[in-house]
Amino acid sequence: MAENKKTTKKVAQPKVEPKKEVESKAPKAAPAPKAAPAAKKAPTPKVAPAPKAAPAPKTEVKKEEVKLEVKKEEVKVENPAPKKNEPMKVLFVAGEANPFIKTGGLADVAGALPKALVDKGIDARVMIPLYLGIPQEFKNNMQYIGNCFVQLSWRSQYCGVFKYVYQGVTYYFIDNEFYFKRHGIYGHYDDGERFAFFSKAILESLKIIDFTPDIIHANDWHTALVPVFLDCFYRGEEHCKNAKTVYTIHNIEFQGQYGDGLIEDILGFNYDQSLLVRYAGCVNYMKGGIESASRVTTVSPSYANEILDPYYGYGMQDILNARKFKLSGIINGIDEEKNNPATDKSLFKNYDINTIENKKFNKIGLQQLLGLPVNEDVPMIGMVGRLTHQKGIDLVTAVMDRILDLDVQVVILGTGDWKYENILKDMQNRYPGKLRAIINFSSDMASKIYAASDMFLMPSKFEPCGLSQMIAMRYASVPIVRLTGGLKDTVMAYNHETGEGEGFTFLTYNASDMLYAIERAVGLYRDYKEDWNKVVHNGMKKDFSWKTIANQYIDLYKSI
Ligand code: ADP
Repeated sequence: MAENKKTTKKVAQPKVEPKKEVESKAPKAAPAPKAAPAAKKAPTPKVAPAPKAAPAPKTEVKKEEVKLEVKKEEVKVENPAPKKNEPMKVLFVAGEANPFIKTGGLADVAGALPKALVDKGIDARVMIPLYLGIPQEFKNNMQYIGNCFVQLSWRSQYCGVFKYVYQGVTYYFIDNEFYFKRHGIYGHYDDGERFAFFSKAILESLKIIDFTPDIIHANDWHTALVPVFLDCFYRGEEHCKNAKTVYTIHNIEFQGQYGDGLIEDILGFNYDQSLLVRYAGCVNYMKGGIESASRVTTVSPSYANEILDPYYGYGMQDILNARKFKLSGIINGIDEEKNNPATDKSLFKNYDINTIENKKFNKIGLQQLLGLPVNEDVPMIGMVGRLTHQKGIDLVTAVMDRILDLDVQVVILGTGDWKYENILKDMQNRYPGKLRAIINFSSDMASKIYAASDMFLMPSKFEPCGLSQMIAMRYASVPIVRLTGGLKDTVMAYNHETGEGEGFTFLTYNASDMLYAIERAVGLYRDYKEDWNKVVHNGMKKDFSWKTIANQYIDLYKSI
């Protein structure tokens, strides 16, 4: 537990961070093996697939002509004509994608990066499962493409493929009601089987969607098996024999660890193949992705470096150190159309960098909505994110009394660990005029908080990239962050001397250091308005667009 050492200061001290040792942490133990469930009958497709074209009638040919034909064919295979003017084809596969289904930052990336690639002339398409939770308005307009069957060891499972074009990007949806017609997208007893199915269905469905990707870009543990299955079972297939693979780690804490009973019963691997996924006495999907992918990336350069260390590596550091030659970090961008205070429909009043005075109406509106005392001058600190140990919520709850002593209002939106949800609800009852904890997932409320707050607190224990701090800056809410991973790469501490920087930072995972950063921010807000406005402007002007970042992915794809 972090200690409370520093006292409250009213004057801003935006200075350099002290360097301290980061606490060490043992790698996580693997969870107990899960039993494989029995397969169920596959759902029937809604529309019958199109009949196959009839084969061309055979004609009689002379012997010499046949010889010529064969020669031609050989030349074609060995020296394929260069595909001039054909765009590079990228298949982006993920467990979630905006605007269809979202639990976190992965959905934001899957919804924005492919679009940025398409805008740059890449033929990028996305594939996700057809979850029950995808809004019906999308489902109503999906086009049925066809179906196939996916072999998972002794199982043969139905796989329907639907298509939907959204903002110029083609999305494919893998349909299997046994696996995906459920409430909630992760956290089921058979997730190991569900996402093994999805990963194999991706490769199998390529046979029916008429898309031969040059690059298959897999993400997190949900699709980590795609490069593994590709190498083990699909390299001989015409539609993916030349595909290169990129595997991106968005969060190394979740690796897809299961008992090794899955190897034969679900994955259908022989002994040699199983070595790709065996790790620390169990099956580890992420390890398989790292081993098999042509390139491994993570979502910020700092995090790419951090995960080589046991504190951040969650047991994966040795594998990553051995595969360091193919590891790199590319920071995420944010969808600047979606996250735009000038057009966001959830706001009480829209604003941009030239009409920033209108931001205060959002604070007043939120105070009224949440029953907080209405006062446009009181500093409001916002938090939006998962209520888990990763996000540093334990630091916040440890010094909440001291934070609220600064005469600020704190508004927190999130869901996550039951423990933190309850602590926050309890604290809210103790501080009805100062603290609101909204235990919910609501994009509308998230926008309202980004727009209403003056400061955005994100004291993460680790943060692969983090999108919330970037969204906050765009909405003129000054980030207060711990210098780790993507937070370190996107938020520069405000420097009083030079006028550079757009936030407040602290280094050690320690509640007192976080409190001190909050005190400095509140001090600047209250006593140095001109400097405060400068910090706000610096943040709003920062370029977090996918337009720029997509180029780095294109360079990476081309380099393979
Ligand atoms: P994560 O580790 O969860 O991926 P990020 O900061 O990368 O964290 O992305 C979180 C995204 O999810 C942001 O767009 C944030 O606004 C959104 N988000 C997180 N929690 C909630 C919530 N309870 N309601 C609405 N949006 C949320």
